[in-house]
Amino acid sequence: MVTTSAFIVITPDAESGESSITVVDAGWRLLHNRPVLNYLRELGYGTDSVCRLISTHYHPDHVGGMAGLRRATGAPVSAHRLEAPYLAGEPGRKIPNPVKPLWLRPLFWPLMAPMSPPNFPVTTILDDGDCLPLLGGARVLHTPGHTPGSISLHFPNEGVLLVADAIQRYQERLTLPSRWFSSDMEAAKKSVQKLASIDFEILCFSHFEPMRKGARAALRSLAEFVS
Ligand SMILES: [Zn+2]
Ligand SMILES: [Zn+2]
Repeated sequence: MVTTSAFIVITPDAESGESSITVVDAGWRLLHNRPVLNYLRELGYGTDSVCRLISTHYHPDHVGGMAGLRRATGAPVSAHRLEAPYLAGEPGRKIPNPVKPLWLRPLFWPLMAPMSPPNFPVTTILDDGDCLPLLGGARVLHTPGHTPGSISLHFPNEGVLLVADAIQRYQERLTLPSRWFSSDMEAAKKSVQKLASIDFEILCFSHFEPMRKGARAALRSLAEFVS
């Protein structure tokens, strides 16, 4: 899907013959609930097919639409332990301004106000190494740096590694996440090294086309470059 950061994971159930849908990330508030639900409908799935929502990290272009999707589908939300209190809006926990340079923050925030994510409860807390019942078993990888509780998802049976915003792609080259929108670049480098140790073929990002060829080699090169 090109308009949002959302991923649709379709897990077939051999016994019932029906598929369960997981939506990973939900795009911007006010913009992306309808495209996600329309896309599901095009694929032949109603809102009741959605059994799980997952947040990769608490940036507004990923969780802005989560409260709306939760309302529309009734599905529970999963998120990393470090970010769940912010998503739920616990006292004293406000999702931080995603912009790092201090000079840019005051310019960005007024624009952001109408798009700031509404709070929602997180039903399932995710930790590094957790296994999710998606496509025969997906592993949660804690990959902090872009945000403190960023996660990546590894689907070993499909050879897919979904890194959300932990890595950027420029044609055949991979780079660290944007300095302007990442909380800790040293942690981001360590996360790249962790991801480079994973066995996969296809690398999926939130804002770039998937890398289907040479992705492992490209990720290893990045890991070496930043070490
Ligand atoms: Zn982000
Ligand atoms: Zn993003």
